[in-house]
Amino acid sequence: MTKVELKVKPIENGTVIDHIPANKALQVLKILGLPKKGTNVTLAMNVHSRLGYKDIVKFENRELAHTEIDKISLIAPDATINIIRDYEIVSKNKVRKVNELNGIIKCTNPKCISNTEEPLETKFYLVDSNPITVRCHYCERLVQYDEIYNQFE
Ligand SMILES: [Zn+2]
Repeated sequence: MTKVELKVKPIENGTVIDHIPANKALQVLKILGLPKKGTNVTLAMNVHSRLGYKDIVKFENRELAHTEIDKISLIAPDATINIIRDYEIVSKNKVRKVNELNGIIKCTNPKCISNTEEPLETKFYLVDSNPITVRCHYCERLVQYDEIYNQFE
């Protein structure tokens, strides 16, 4: 029997997002607009770790915008973001916990002032992190993890 070995080339410059909850890596990629032509993406799903199972994504030549990190924090609140330069990790940060989300997700209340013809920028406050629940600033509707998650599809 031949053993199949999957070689993963280390990245020279790019980002590694580690500690994504198992099976949520595709969601994280979607937030980042990946996969995209010309961007090398490596994905590992259901990796066994000391704390259970996790996903990892790596991609080259790409820095993350704050709004992207805020979105990732909703899907993967315990993720760490490692920046790679010249094959070395130059910074390693946990995603910050966002207490206020501006313009990132939509309110699920169709009558909300943020969903009218001249929509206002949405604004939500984090009320619970496990599972994620946020409250709309305008209509006080509670939006749950699943509804947030669906918006990133
Ligand atoms: Zn609302």
